[in-house]
Amino acid sequence: MENKPRYKFRKKRGFSRGAFRKKVCRFCTNKIAIDYKKIDMLKSFTTERGKIIPRRITGNCALHQRRLAIAIKRAREIGLLSITGV
Ligand SMILES: [Zn+2]
Repeated sequence: MENKPRYKFRKKRGFSRGAFRKKVCRFCTNKIAIDYKKIDMLKSFTTERGKIIPRRITGNCALHQRRLAIAIKRAREIGLLSITGV
């Protein structure tokens, strides 16, 4: 007698954003120095619109994320990185 509707099955939510990267700080593991002149490196931490990708996505540690943000801002200021992207 199992003809009751199964209300208990809810839709699974969340964590369906895809692109789930490994959460390790790239700078800590590879010991890369953050430099505002390394534009290619900085670009990999910005979106195509030029925004800084948040730490929870890149997996950077707080220290390196902060330094990265400073480096990106500095690169923007001197025109190495475009602010709006294209
Ligand atoms: Zn780090």
